[in-house]
Amino acid sequence: SYNADIESLRIALDFLHQQTKYQTKTLILSDIQQTGIELKELYPKIFQLIKEKKIDRFIGIGTDLYKFKNSFGENGEFYFNTNLFIKTLQQNPHYFSNEAILLKGARMYHFENLLHLLEYKQHQTVLEVNLNAIIHNYNYFKSLLLPQTKICVMVKAFSYGSGIEEIASVLQHNKVDYLAVAFTDEGVELRKAGIRAPIIVMSPEAGTFSRMVEYNLEPEIYNFRSLQMILDECKTLVTQNAYPVHIKINTGMNRMGFDPDEVHRLLHIITENKETIFVKSVFSHLAASDDPDFDTFTMEQISVYEQVTKQIQETLGYTFIRHILNSAGIERFPQAQYDMVRLGIGLYGISTIDDSKLENVSTLKTNITQIRTVTAGSTVGYGRRGKVTVTSQIAVIPIGYADGLNRKYGNGNGYVLVKGQKAPIVGSICMDMCMIDVTGLHAHEGDEVIIIGQGISFKQIANTIGTIPYEIFTSISQRVKRVYVKE
Ligand SMILES: *Cc1c(COP(=O)(O)O)cnc(C)c1O
Repeated sequence: SYNADIESLRIALDFLHQQTKYQTKTLILSDIQQTGIELKELYPKIFQLIKEKKIDRFIGIGTDLYKFKNSFGENGEFYFNTNLFIKTLQQNPHYFSNEAILLKGARMYHFENLLHLLEYKQHQTVLEVNLNAIIHNYNYFKSLLLPQTKICVMVKAFSYGSGIEEIASVLQHNKVDYLAVAFTDEGVELRKAGIRAPIIVMSPEAGTFSRMVEYNLEPEIYNFRSLQMILDECKTLVTQNAYPVHIKINTGMNRMGFDPDEVHRLLHIITENKETIFVKSVFSHLAASDDPDFDTFTMEQISVYEQVTKQIQETLGYTFIRHILNSAGIERFPQAQYDMVRLGIGLYGISTIDDSKLENVSTLKTNITQIRTVTAGSTVGYGRRGKVTVTSQIAVIPIGYADGLNRKYGNGNGYVLVKGQKAPIVGSICMDMCMIDVTGLHAHEGDEVIIIGQGISFKQIANTIGTIPYEIFTSISQRVKRVYVKE
């Protein structure tokens, strides 16, 4: 909603261009005001710009654009004002389909009214994801590393709940070296969304290898069975060159990977099949990189990894990428960064050492649905568990445990923020809503409510209900619309 110069349009068009989900790119633009440029020069310039940025569909709104519509050649649809366009939209429900649409209008054109028509999920509870914060956090972790160290970002589990394609596309734009997902389907989804960065699949399932090859995804190999599976499938597919794989070594986590005493046999098989697969990377995972109590153990894991990779290097005779650090590892053991690190929770704003270096990425918010006065002695909600001792203002908000708001957070254990002030949750959290106490807060129906984010951190919520921020991030359900903001 800022439309006073061509430069801001150029930046917005670049952002539109980065959106990989839809091929067709559409621009809806209002008259540009106060540029200081003559209109008859301005509009041909804009036409040049939208041609340069390969905009497929152009809709101009405003009297100036209408007047200069000849500057835009054959293409372009023009409307005198926003309301006329809204009328057209309402009469043609299929006016847009499968398009990425950029709305760029000066405030007086009230494009927010258009936005409401174009948004396709109407649930009021949203998770707002700040892409600038993602970039900030990415660069912070990058600054802790040597310039040549590669970064693999973990975008598994819907990018820790924040949305896989959108986060991956921002990372790709910021030249991330690798992305990693848990399952093949997640990788396929990324490729379908136009992500070209290399992708590791950490837990490839049997029978998905042909899809992996088709979509250029690189499997982790964690034991002899998974190795054999990949070899068998590779041979039936007759891939042109040896296929890249990532070898996982168990150094003490005892989850997935080859034990050090299995490496000899592993190398034998890999050498025998060097026409079929090649080792792109060898990695391990730390069990307690965030806990100073276990630093001796962590150092041992690193030392075992060091020995095993040396052995593999000597036998294979070619170089591969080495990586062992997760987010906490990057902050606490930078000496073990090797060739690459695997950044996860840190990107989403959680630090082991100092959160103040990171920016809050996600904010879960909603609006008040209804407010009522509840008299002293009454109760609120199921099981009559919300006891009201003094006459109170009780508000309903449309978020419940089905959205990922844990029931343990109810009955006064948790609070939300209304106008920056604490409003405790009253009674039990219901499936689709919960009640909060807004007594004395001068709250109104429709007011915004922050559930998690700035002012109530994911860490804080996790502590309150006795879990870790990872679980809070990944519990926010898919019906909560993700909204991406970038300045
Ligand atoms: C999830 C995961 C990571 C990232 O861990 P964070 O603690 O979120 O940084 C790194 N490596 C592996 C193997 C993982 O599964």
